[in-house]
Amino acid sequence: MEKGVLYVVATPIGNLEDLSPRALKILSAVDFIIAEDTRHSRPLLRHFGIATPMTAMHEHNERQVMEHILQRLQGGESAALISDAGTPLISDPGFPLVRECHRHGIRVCPIPGPSAAICALSAGGMPTDRFLFEGFLPRTQSARRERLRRLKGERHTLVFYESSHRLPESLRDMAAELGAERPALMARELTKLHETLISGTLGKLLEQVEADPMQRKGEMVLLVGGAGDDAGSGQAAETKRILEILLQELPLKQAAALAARITGEKKNRLYRQALALRDGTDGAKPDT
Ligand code: SAM
Repeated sequence: MEKGVLYVVATPIGNLEDLSPRALKILSAVDFIIAEDTRHSRPLLRHFGIATPMTAMHEHNERQVMEHILQRLQGGESAALISDAGTPLISDPGFPLVRECHRHGIRVCPIPGPSAAICALSAGGMPTDRFLFEGFLPRTQSARRERLRRLKGERHTLVFYESSHRLPESLRDMAAELGAERPALMARELTKLHETLISGTLGKLLEQVEADPMQRKGEMVLLVGGAGDDAGSGQAAETKRILEILLQELPLKQAAALAARITGEKKNRLYRQALALRDGTDGAKPDT
């Protein structure tokens, strides 16, 4: 065991078998464990027969206890930082301590493992090449709406953590600000007995959550498709392409009529879109 190192150790988000052998070795060997809530972490340590002493560090005492922890690390002791579940610092305490360790030249060593966000992305069937982790949305509706409004044009998959009691309100606000047709997935109780993944659109998820109180229980991650990923956008792009081709060959009225026969969309809506395309204002407006 290397001395004077802060190990940042990921712990299970439900299934205890997800604790890695390396995490187990580190937790058993360090001089002390820094836990978010010692009462919460005790059963995990007991389950694995780990007797390492624990000290509490949470968002309310982080600054006070940090100085003492830094002194111990500088004095050559080694410590493991854990949170209640998953990876520390990911919507969990620890950031000031890790930053101060870097500033004081103390080695910080990650021991990777579960994180609900990555777990949901890995099985969610949504684009993962680029994603934006948003964590928890603000608690008040006005701040939440404002945050969502700023995310509306974001093209990456959006990742949110949500608490069960705010789930319906948040889904309602997401549908209102981002559009009910946005693809979405709710990953609930990951790695646990009642693990459930429900995919659809924000509107459909809201319907299901409102109809079935079970879907509001436990812990959940919400994935929301980025802008341009909504169910209708593929069709909208295709309609626009067809109209543009026809407009090169035919008068406006005929182009709109033919496009309506090809796509099955309403002739007068396509006529308005064709007008806008011809005038360079584009804008495929929804049906009125
Ligand atoms: N540090 C943790 C991580 O790496 O995922 C996250 C901690 S944050 C305080 C807790 C939130 O993570 C929950 O409200 C929920 O949104 C999500 N979460 C944690 N465990 C989960 C699980 N088993 N299934 C679904 N979401 C979970």
